[in-house]
Amino acid sequence: RPGPEESGVAVIGLGRFGWHVSQSLTALGYDVLAVDENPRIVQRWSDQLSRVVQADATDEKALRQLGLTDFGRVVVAIGASVEASVLVVLALAELGVPEIWARATSEKHAKILDAVGADHVVFPEAATGERVAHLIVSKMLDFIEFDEDFAIAKVRAPQALQGRPIGEIAISDRYGVVVVGAKQPGQKFRYTSPDTVLVPGSVLIVEGTISQVQRFAEMT
Ligand code: ATP
Ligand code: ATP
Repeated sequence: RPGPEESGVAVIGLGRFGWHVSQSLTALGYDVLAVDENPRIVQRWSDQLSRVVQADATDEKALRQLGLTDFGRVVVAIGASVEASVLVVLALAELGVPEIWARATSEKHAKILDAVGADHVVFPEAATGERVAHLIVSKMLDFIEFDEDFAIAKVRAPQALQGRPIGEIAISDRYGVVVVGAKQPGQKFRYTSPDTVLVPGSVLIVEGTISQVQRFAEMT
């Protein structure tokens, strides 16, 4: 029987990462229960989040009392203490929480979290570090990689493609990428049509393999 918490999310550990997750979920309209064992941390965020409680989340009994068994999704955002993070994930798995998200700080930590019952393991320092490195060395303004070899990127419109309807340029034959959307200066992103004419300052959304998208970005 789905209870009222079914659609809520509990976040355990309110360091920088846990706080940003909690705050973003709240901004998205989700009801967040935030848990931290440190009373000063609880105090600090109590007027910014609707529900912040103090508890040691390695303690199954405490989790039960907080009603964590009713939550469909729980995020374990503890990073520095691998032991605490693993014990909390284990406790949540034993309570039967359907969807456990856990933060890892190393590859080995990720493997252990997976082994004790985490359904999704995220590695924010590695993911953000890798992402920033890509943005520094490439000309992409933003990008998402899917699987091994597919990417969508935001890039400036290369000069060679400006001034003519893009339907006349055969972009995908020449460059391998598909231009999905374009943002003309001062406007919003729109899907492109063969009639779209790019101008200086246009920004594009392109998709293709990672190397095609990178090569296309290099032309700008
Ligand atoms: P960040 O990098 O996100 O700032 P951090 O690595 O500096 O985090 P952590 O040690 O990961 O800090 O702790 C994050 C929060 O988790 C802290 O506020 C800490 O009090 C809390 N925490 C640690 N262990 C437990 C536990 N067993 N139960 C509840 N909260 C915990
Ligand atoms: P992370 O969250 O990425 O693990 P952190 O918050 O734990 O980082 P920081 O205090 O940000 O750690 O320090 C990151 C690194 O930067 C450390 O190795 C530190 O020695 C180094 N560092 C700090 N200050 C300076 C400085 N003034 N010059 C050069 N290196 C520095």
